[in-house]
Amino acid sequence: MIVEIISVGTEILLGNIVNTNAAYLAEKCAGLGLSCYYQDVVGDNEERLTSVLNAALSRADILLLSGGLGPTQDDLTKETVAKVLHKNLYLHEPSKEAIAAFFQKRGIEITENNWKQAMVPEGCIVVDNPNGTAPGIIMEENGKRIVLMPGPPNEMIPMFENAIMPYLNALDPGIIYSQTVKICGVGESKVESMIEDLIDAQSNPTIATYAKTGEVHLRVTAKAEDDKEAKKLVKPVVKELKGRFGNHIYSTQEDVTLEKAVVDLLLANHLTVSTVESCTGGMLAARLINVPGVSDVFKMGYITYSNKAKRKLLGIKKSLLEKHGAVSPEIAKDMAKGGALFAKSDVAVGITGIAGPDGGSEEKPVGLVYIACSVCGRTSVNEYHFSGSRMKIRESSVSAALSMMRECILQYYSEVTFGGKKS
Ligand code: ATP
Ligand code: MG
Repeated sequence: MIVEIISVGTEILLGNIVNTNAAYLAEKCAGLGLSCYYQDVVGDNEERLTSVLNAALSRADILLLSGGLGPTQDDLTKETVAKVLHKNLYLHEPSKEAIAAFFQKRGIEITENNWKQAMVPEGCIVVDNPNGTAPGIIMEENGKRIVLMPGPPNEMIPMFENAIMPYLNALDPGIIYSQTVKICGVGESKVESMIEDLIDAQSNPTIATYAKTGEVHLRVTAKAEDDKEAKKLVKPVVKELKGRFGNHIYSTQEDVTLEKAVVDLLLANHLTVSTVESCTGGMLAARLINVPGVSDVFKMGYITYSNKAKRKLLGIKKSLLEKHGAVSPEIAKDMAKGGALFAKSDVAVGITGIAGPDGGSEEKPVGLVYIACSVCGRTSVNEYHFSGSRMKIRESSVSAALSMMRECILQYYSEVTFGGKKS
């Protein structure tokens, strides 16, 4: 079934608020196995909302609207939808009582315009709103379903989860099961190009791509009569993805983050770790320390932002810093080696880069980051070019460092096990 998400509100058009409702609903619909081909944002304007509704009705089976159910004159979603479907509004007594109770409980006086919220289109299903005054509304007309929800996310989300989602699920019974394949160390476009054929051929299960900072998640979703059947559909697709992405998959479990995967790898191999950070200022250490149980492996986190700190804490030579500059592969390597040496850890990571917005040059532009990783005495270094704000560059650096740690540890063990040698 095809769903269309319509967000009503002039403030969304103006950019005063971010349209988080649409993102939320889109993700939920994907999870329900509904296809969403269009999302609309329209202001509080009867004429334009009417034209959006007519277009949506011509191309979708289900319309999900949020916003414009408030008590004020500018809130006209319900009135407009009723007009488009040629329905009259009537006073819905239970809603009137619920509104009265809502105000009484909070000791607020009801103003006359609040009763407007108890007016509903004839023949509709009224949905309770325990978190606000505007009830939700479901209308069924000529095989189409139109769902109206209040705009405030703290009202819309519980309403969707408690009432709308079960309603939508019942339209096309069955269960939805999904599994997420979490990939690191491969860019989004590369991931997409590697699964283009699978995406083109998909119907059930579907594969949805979610790009995160430094990671890509692929959610494989199947719809089937029961759990067992759905899992059976998902399994071969996940297996195929595992074959294509190999070691770049760090987990297929919902609750495993990249930092947890790294910490688990350290724990499994009895490796201790230290971090040596410049531009990320402790963010890598903080992410590792997010993981419960990290105390068994985490030895020390250095923040060596200044050259003096790099010299004093890690023994990096002044002449080297002058020769290569603090942002260089050589210094990144020495940071990792210094961390391993002084913290007496098996694994150490050094991060040095230019987070901007100033401080870049032609030779060393903003976003240039070197990350070195030392595993049991073997040190490698990578060069990265990140873009975006200072914060974004720092976050990307941390994700890249976590990916690199994983890769270096896995590589170390594959070579040790197979007796290979690395220069
Ligand atoms: P109210 O009774 O509060 O007027 P309403 O159903 O009329 O509710 P709107 O007036 O459209 O909804 O929006 C109320 C508030 O809800 C907005 O100021 C905004 O904070 C939030 N909101 C509305 N639409 C969205 C959206 N699409 N994404 C995120 N927040 C939203
Ligand atoms: Mg409003």
